[in-house]
Amino acid sequence: MKILIKNGTVISMDEKREKIENVDIVIENDKIIDICNNYNGDYDKLIDATDKIVMPGLINAHTHLGMSIFRATNDNYHLQDWLEKKIWPIEAKMTDEEVYYAALLSCIEMIKTGTTCLNDMYFGWRGTMKALLDTKIRAVMSRCLIGEDDDEGNRMINEFETMINEYKNIPNITFAVAPHGLYTCSKDYLKKCTDLSIKYNIPIHVHFCENKSEVKTIENKFNTTPVNALKEIGFLDRKLILAHVTYLSEDDQKLIGNNISFVTNPISNLNLGCGIADLVSYQKYNINIALGTDGQGSGNNMNLFKHMAFVSDLQKAKYEDPTIMEAYDVLKMATINGAKALDLDKEIGSIEVGKKADIIILDLNKIETYPYPNLLCEVVHNVESSNVDTTIINGNILMEKHNLLLNINENNLKNKIKNICEELKIN
Ligand SMILES: [Zn+2]
Repeated sequence: MKILIKNGTVISMDEKREKIENVDIVIENDKIIDICNNYNGDYDKLIDATDKIVMPGLINAHTHLGMSIFRATNDNYHLQDWLEKKIWPIEAKMTDEEVYYAALLSCIEMIKTGTTCLNDMYFGWRGTMKALLDTKIRAVMSRCLIGEDDDEGNRMINEFETMINEYKNIPNITFAVAPHGLYTCSKDYLKKCTDLSIKYNIPIHVHFCENKSEVKTIENKFNTTPVNALKEIGFLDRKLILAHVTYLSEDDQKLIGNNISFVTNPISNLNLGCGIADLVSYQKYNINIALGTDGQGSGNNMNLFKHMAFVSDLQKAKYEDPTIMEAYDVLKMATINGAKALDLDKEIGSIEVGKKADIIILDLNKIETYPYPNLLCEVVHNVESSNVDTTIINGNILMEKHNLLLNINENNLKNKIKNICEELKIN
């Protein structure tokens, strides 16, 4: 199958930082095979991108797909209260089938809002995996590991290893080891996670320093700073994805190597009153910063464009300086930096010949997004889901002209979700 995307304005996100106009992109099967002007070879499918923006699909580097059923449940709750009273007791009752429908809703929400790759941390993995395969979205999968090095902890590890062995040859799926946090897992259990990361040569994905109270808990438990705690359990030597990192001392920031990425989750951090991560300082120490939504319970939605819009504005407010972070930096977080975090930057994150065809097309010619003299500023600050016209993942056109091309009935899905919320008494 050969697809020609004709005559678009391309934001490539490659090293040359290019915005190029009137460009043709040729996709063959899963890969981009040509980027040129006036392509005159053959093709099977034409997508006319005249007056439209073509860019890499967005990468959501920290999320919980199964949490869509908790959307709009976090009014007036502290993080720990919300988890302990509203989330964890219900999650303990959720079946794989319920996780499937919840994850399916999240995947569709992502495809409709321009996200083509995600990094998930949840349980009920068979449900999530089925949703990923049904929607053909690209994902780094895990099975959340939490607790002690005991029978229950080892049962979770067994589940994770079963998943890797059953699904290791699926093209769109890779894996990460996902201990929930340093404050919710024992030291021995965390060390086992390091061993798993080495055994399968995959990254570790963990919540880290989400609020001040977590920082204190880690310091008390390990009797050292949070980054030294990571060192003690062997995480610092691994490819490491640290979600949130809302607070970290400058001394700790200096210890972060280039195998480590931070995933900022601005809306979740605001909703739960966790604070504003000092991304400007992280940039000073050349730390790779990616972007995530977290689950809808705290992050509201999976529309990464909405989350992008907060990133630089929060830094500008924090520093009282409107020149502190430019739009391009934010766009990198949602694309190529996310790819680096997930160890997928050779395959995705930019539009380049040889990379996988994970591409979205935006139509900004609508009243609410017109005009856009500074295209990057517009894309970072003002894109609505209604601007996302087409979504292509691994060379598959999953949405075209706003029409989802999957065999999924959205009304049936909403009814299923409604029943699940009633059954589980979510409010
Ligand atoms: Zn999270």
